[in-house]
Amino acid sequence: MRQPTYRDTAVVLRTYKLGEADRIVVLLTEHHGKVRAVAKGVRKTRSKFGARLEPMSHVQLQLVEGRGDLDIVGQAELVDNTAPLVADLDHATSGLSMLEVVDQMTLDREPVPHVYRMLVGALRTVADRQSPLVVPAFFWKLLASEGISPELDACVRCGEPGPLVAFDMDQGGVLCRACRSGAPMSEDALKLMRMILGGRLTDALALPPSPATHEVAAHATRAVEHHIERRLRAVAMFEPR
Ligand SMILES: [Zn+2]
Repeated sequence: MRQPTYRDTAVVLRTYKLGEADRIVVLLTEHHGKVRAVAKGVRKTRSKFGARLEPMSHVQLQLVEGRGDLDIVGQAELVDNTAPLVADLDHATSGLSMLEVVDQMTLDREPVPHVYRMLVGALRTVADRQSPLVVPAFFWKLLASEGISPELDACVRCGEPGPLVAFDMDQGGVLCRACRSGAPMSEDALKLMRMILGGRLTDALALPPSPATHEVAAHATRAVEHHIERRLRAVAMFEPR
């Protein structure tokens, strides 16, 4: 009996070995959510898939519905060439940390086309240029898409408009001097956060590295970790820098 096939585009989130020659690929597809699929013979030297099913690959796929949780990869064609991403350690680290967070924050077969589009956009930005805010901005936008947006305009505890000196995701955002908890936040970092979450992402991504971009990155990592309640392996592996 012929099994149903379907086509979709996807980003490969991670892969793991299956038996001698096969690999399971975990994909974030555009229309079918997170899908696990078997790529048969992918670990053989002359695999028909070549290197197209590596983490960060953006691919057009034909998939065959499996009987259980696993589908089967029929065909895979590259949409974007992510080889430059993989070759550069900084780029690869950025890409992998985004993949890991997406993997943690998505459920099998629950379509999240907005997350797919954000991930593809962020991977392309990482490949195009060195921006210290691509990953943190991606984390903040991802959290915002889950309904988690920090308060940035006034103290979350007393409503004081300023000066705002601390940031605490447990409290839900920024805090004034009297109420402060969590981590200190500089004025410049607060400005960047407002740019990222206030519709000026492109301007934020054009900025060079600075103490404020580091600060925003640290806050973003903590917020995402807090959300997924586990330390990110990809981040931990490369700390301290
Ligand atoms: Zn306050």
